[in-house]
Amino acid sequence: MNNHQEIIRTIPLGSKINPLPYLRNGWQTANSVALVYWNSAKWAELVFLLPKTAANYYFMAELSLADSNIGHNSVDITVEANGRNVANWQVNSSSIHDKLAIIPKELIAHDGLLTIVLSSADKCVNLRPIQLHTVFIDTNLAAYLKELQTGFDWVCGVRKQLLATVRKVLFSLDNVSAQPSQIKNYLQKIIDDPYVKLSHKTDLSFDLDYFRHNFVKLKEGEIHYQIRQWLDGLNNLHNSVIDVGNYFSKQLDLSLSNSSEIKLLTASGIDFNEKISVLRGKNEHLNNLEILLQKETITSTPSTLYLDITNACNFRCRMCYQSKSHFLRTNLSNRHMLMLMEMTPYLSNITVAGLGEPLLSKNLESFSTQAKILHCTPHLITNGSLISSRLNVLRNFSKVSISFDAATAKTFEAIRYRSNFEIIKQNIRLLRKEEPEMILCFSVVLSRLNIDELGQIFEIGAELGVNEISITPIEHMPFLELNSSDRQIFVEEFAAAKKIAKQYNIKINNSVFPEIFSDNNTPRIKEELLRGVKILPIKEERHLTIEKIAEILLCHKFQYYPDPVVFYPHKWPEVTESAIPSKAVQPLLARTSFRLDEELQKINQKIEQLTAELKAKPAHFFKMPYCLDPWKLVYIKSNGTNRLCCHVDIITGNLGEDGHKASINSLECRKIRKSMFNVDDMLPECKRCQAADRYMGLRGLQELSKKHQINFVEKMCDEVNI
Ligand code: SF4
Repeated sequence: MNNHQEIIRTIPLGSKINPLPYLRNGWQTANSVALVYWNSAKWAELVFLLPKTAANYYFMAELSLADSNIGHNSVDITVEANGRNVANWQVNSSSIHDKLAIIPKELIAHDGLLTIVLSSADKCVNLRPIQLHTVFIDTNLAAYLKELQTGFDWVCGVRKQLLATVRKVLFSLDNVSAQPSQIKNYLQKIIDDPYVKLSHKTDLSFDLDYFRHNFVKLKEGEIHYQIRQWLDGLNNLHNSVIDVGNYFSKQLDLSLSNSSEIKLLTASGIDFNEKISVLRGKNEHLNNLEILLQKETITSTPSTLYLDITNACNFRCRMCYQSKSHFLRTNLSNRHMLMLMEMTPYLSNITVAGLGEPLLSKNLESFSTQAKILHCTPHLITNGSLISSRLNVLRNFSKVSISFDAATAKTFEAIRYRSNFEIIKQNIRLLRKEEPEMILCFSVVLSRLNIDELGQIFEIGAELGVNEISITPIEHMPFLELNSSDRQIFVEEFAAAKKIAKQYNIKINNSVFPEIFSDNNTPRIKEELLRGVKILPIKEERHLTIEKIAEILLCHKFQYYPDPVVFYPHKWPEVTESAIPSKAVQPLLARTSFRLDEELQKINQKIEQLTAELKAKPAHFFKMPYCLDPWKLVYIKSNGTNRLCCHVDIITGNLGEDGHKASINSLECRKIRKSMFNVDDMLPECKRCQAADRYMGLRGLQELSKKHQINFVEKMCDEVNI
């Protein structure tokens, strides 16, 4: 690299949707390492990528020269934008300087690239530490305010999240026998803070007029800076609360007795085994009637459950959320499990998977035993490391999928950090031997790193007696995503895989479609990819003590809101009674016995009522929804909240607070069901969605419509062939 042109970083400022890069990455700290070339003519060169539609920009630099060795001498700095001088600044070491330059739009290159060079005629050495923050402000006031408001709303969102996390952590602390009262007090203080309380129920308003009248302040970056500070403070506090949660969830695990508190649901109806399939059939019938009648509130129970029983994991796979700093470790509690037990008689499909390793859950045994008794066909997705010690639990599952992404220990263990390739193979062999009837699957996440091992993965699968292999492309890891130079390798490896699959009767579920391969054709160098994977950050658990946690919480001093001038009408909002979230988590008493005959009677009555309603509808009433998931699937996360579906992580309810009936009929669920009949109302994620499982359970719906001679006037999607 040229000593005279030290490139600090390319900062993408192009995104108008997510304000985060704007508020955070837009501020670039150049540390002493980046500025070792101070004694050169060019001090620092920064490259920015601006939106192509950009109007004029203000470029603001906050220069902090404190502790440098320039003493009280001043330094002249020249700012050049794409080769033209735009400002000359004089700074000294004693303070922080906010400097502003206007970058005319004609200086921004066509591809949106802008290079700013800061240079000084002074020859200084060893200038450190030094900070350089930059921020761009669109001179188009309306556009800028919109962006700022989005940023502000985002900050309010973090406050909401913080409150939810604190409440969750407090709830867990209630279950820890030795109560750490000091920690509880600190957390309670956060909850009691009026501004945190307000953020839960009443969103703070963003005062546009204030900003309009104080545009000078905007230009000087003061408000921008304030929001950024506030966001950083909130994030730090949030991370500390998450640390508390992770620390105590471990204690909680220790203090909970095994699965003894989870009682199996017993049935008081006669011929339980036979009647359970009648109940499921009736429930599905009712569910289909509710779809045909476009019901937003349902009385039936969705027949598919996707269960993220715990997000704790013994691995730290490189692509996994476990390594993210905001990861809050959660397990479904006994209380959640009791509520889920109530749903099991209606469930036809259960998949236990999610972010963690489900075999670590102490409640899995009772839950899967219940599912087995009720003749469900539960499916488990595991990393394969605990098979030998949890065979008794695995016996309850009819299908087990193991994440298996490589054919060599070197690649496997690089991706799945903390795994042992040989032990996992031994475990699968043992499971096959113990459970010869079980459907065993490999779940392969295909990337540039393992694409050349696909054929061999099938060979290992055949040797271990695997019945199915699913291949899905890696996502959200650009350097591992497949590109055009990998296409030929895939063709060859997939041909070899198909040959083995045919020979050993292995079913292939392939989701690696031609359009997955991007146009980029960076050559594939395996050793480099391996090195790249190994240096991805892994978040090891922090070993905290109660004292340390108390110290961290205390140091935030709850200074996490900005100056009241940001808010309308320029003062802190009043705290009203109604703004205080008073809803304490009430223990919900779940039933432990199930009256099958009574349930059947209730469902039959409802079917009768809805059939009459159906018959009274005119022919033009009927529409096929865009997706059936909102009626047919329940997804429960390990923190007890309901998630939209397997593809989109939007919270739609709270099993833990409301119970399962209320959580599947929450306001969000009702809105989403309604939107499925009108494209304009649909969530952007749903509009984009082409997932095949949108039509899960379609056949039953088709049969019922045929029986009632229903022709859909509008199909929300052409692929639905009714
Ligand atoms: S349309 Fe797609 S994203 Fe939306 S609920 Fe259905 S499966 Fe999920």
